[in-house]
Amino acid sequence: MLRSAILAASRSPQMRTLVEKLPPTRAIVERFVAGEPLDAALAACDELTATGRRATLDHLGEDTRDAAQAAATAAAYEKLLEALKETGLAQHAEVSVKLSAVGQFLPQDGEQVALENARRICTAAADAGTTVTLDMEDHTTTDSTLGIARQLRADFPWLGVVLQAYLRRTEADCRDFSGPGSRVRLCKGAYQEPASVAFQKKDEVDRAYVRCLKVLMAGEGYPMVASHDPRMVKIAGELAERNGRKADSFEYQMLYGIRPEEQLRLARSGATMRVYLPYGQEWYGYFMRRLAERPANLAFFLRAMATR
Ligand code: FAD
Repeated sequence: MLRSAILAASRSPQMRTLVEKLPPTRAIVERFVAGEPLDAALAACDELTATGRRATLDHLGEDTRDAAQAAATAAAYEKLLEALKETGLAQHAEVSVKLSAVGQFLPQDGEQVALENARRICTAAADAGTTVTLDMEDHTTTDSTLGIARQLRADFPWLGVVLQAYLRRTEADCRDFSGPGSRVRLCKGAYQEPASVAFQKKDEVDRAYVRCLKVLMAGEGYPMVASHDPRMVKIAGELAERNGRKADSFEYQMLYGIRPEEQLRLARSGATMRVYLPYGQEWYGYFMRRLAERPANLAFFLRAMATR
């Protein structure tokens, strides 16, 4: 119930205005978001890579209905990738992109605009010597996002996609995307989805996650295990071993600010560990999904409000 309410609020412009105005919000947001300017993101990225972790940077934004805004987001990614190249961080850092931030929902030719903007970003990534992963949004976008990914992969075979274990379709998608060279980030899924398309109970989602992991680990691609769940991390390690995978043939991924000690432990153990690093002004939707995920995150937020 609470999760549904917070996820509904994550898409409400009125709630957004209210939450953004709350005095303690900024300090709490900083727990999950690197900051607003590019420099803050580069500094956080530098800190992660200095401790043996990799990064995937997300220039925050989603759901744009404005073509100029979509183009500006693509330009921001080009600038980010140029900076990663110049600083040498591109060796350890890639970018994550939401297609809805680069035009997918535009009323006219949205998919085409998103494809072209994503192509600009992929071209800049290739020039910087790094890669791009397309984030996955709610289930109404899955076919469109995977379709755009397939088109881009013809020119950028290293393009990563995200699959969400809570969707009933995902085990089959894992099979489709487990071929040679395929990079797949497997997460549980962060949106409010109906029972017709998604498992609703936590144990059902967890079991689906393990089934998908089995497919990806046995496949010929590069699985990216995106979870903070200690059980999933353990099972991923066991499956990697059972399938004879070396540390450079799969990776673990966690979100910035979540379980940093575990991130460091995995990196020190020799595993490849990548941190999803969001930055920029458009933090509202991302932040609300983090609150919805975990009562402790929400409690932290409410406590901070109460002490002001
Ligand atoms: P949960 O089921 O939320 O938690 C399981 C257990 O993990 C908890 O019981 C606890 O032991 C531990 N845990 C979880 N959170 C914390 C915490 N804050 N502190 C301490 N322990 C914790 N979702 C999408 O829909 N699309 C995407 O493109 C996408 N990209 C992602 C990229 C990355 C790198 C990651 C890590 C997640 C991404 N997600 C994405 C979010 C994802 O779908 C989940 O909503 C989110 O990761 C929570 O699921 P979980 O697997 O961590 O486990």
